Amino acid sequence: MYPTRIQTISVFDLILPLRRPYSVSGGRVQVDRMQSVIVRIDTECGLSGWGESCPFGSAYLPAFAAGIHAGIAELAPRLLGEDPLHPEQLSHIMDGQLSGHDYVKSALDMACWDLLGQHTGLPLYALLGGRFSKGVDMMGVCPNDRPEAMAAAIDELRSIGYRCFSPKVGGDVALDIARIRAILDRIGPGETIVIDANRAWRPDEAVRIMNAVADDPRPCFEQPCETLDQCLSVRRLTRQPIIVDEAVLSFVDLLRVQSEHIAEGINIKLGRVGGLTKARRMRDFCVATGMCMNIEETGGTLIASTAAVHLAVATPPRWRLATSDNTRLHDVIPASGGYVFEQGQGIPPQMPGLGIQPDLQILGAPTARYS
Ligand code: MG
Repeated sequence: MYPTRIQTISVFDLILPLRRPYSVSGGRVQVDRMQSVIVRIDTECGLSGWGESCPFGSAYLPAFAAGIHAGIAELAPRLLGEDPLHPEQLSHIMDGQLSGHDYVKSALDMACWDLLGQHTGLPLYALLGGRFSKGVDMMGVCPNDRPEAMAAAIDELRSIGYRCFSPKVGGDVALDIARIRAILDRIGPGETIVIDANRAWRPDEAVRIMNAVADDPRPCFEQPCETLDQCLSVRRLTRQPIIVDEAVLSFVDLLRVQSEHIAEGINIKLGRVGGLTKARRMRDFCVATGMCMNIEETGGTLIASTAAVHLAVATPPRWRLATSDNTRLHDVIPASGGYVFEQGQGIPPQMPGLGIQPDLQILGAPTARYS
């Protein structure tokens, strides 16, 4: 049935206790649970679309779970009655109603894409560009720890099937050099490694650390410093590829990264940039201008990660690095279906839309409902 309109928006809260407390950015960001917000959009023709936005705690990005609730309360009345099958238009409407706060819009945008997929009978990857491969490389992550413990964590991740690793560093210079050396000793042929400082280094620290390990061509370095200006100063004094993550919040930031040659790659997190619509726009720009990408989510469950896997598999492999696997940090699985983890790869479902079926018993009653 067409046309269709948004009839109800329901919001669910989900606490995700982490298997182990997680420390990044040299201990500046410490998280023992994630607070996820899951959204269901019901249409008058009977379809339900699902989305998720999950900041990684409240100190990782300018985003927090209570902010998502407040933002959705601001946006929902404007979205009721709109056609969810036009995600670009919905994204434009949301920007007109609420400036910034893209992490709020991500879950709503994702639910619209899910509806578009269900309505057309196509999996999301088909709507986002096609299927360039069976699956995408998933990224195994390990938090700040002692050098030998981080090296052991790489071995453990490999035993699960990962071939791409993102160890989190960010301490004093000597400690981080020791960590990186210990980790690089464990990296084998065909494996890729991204050393992620999560903004922890001052520019002078980043330069010293990166130059101390410059004899090894394998690692990329992610978000060495807080700001794009600081990353640019590091770019000028080092040689390894740099990937920017937290400092890119909008397309304008990405434009600057590319035009000023601040980095060779970007980490596109759906929740950070405003959902699939804006992430796809960034992805297309990166393909057109020659930047490599991690395509992933900030946090969350199978729902959010499946959306990221759909966009990643719809991206030409030449430009694609890997997709972080947040679902392995906790044991909450609030949906069936979704992407399958197989030998280090994430394989998207072929069902229409996201390809997930939420478990209403796990989600519980909605904490807010707009109709
Ligand atoms: Mg990162």
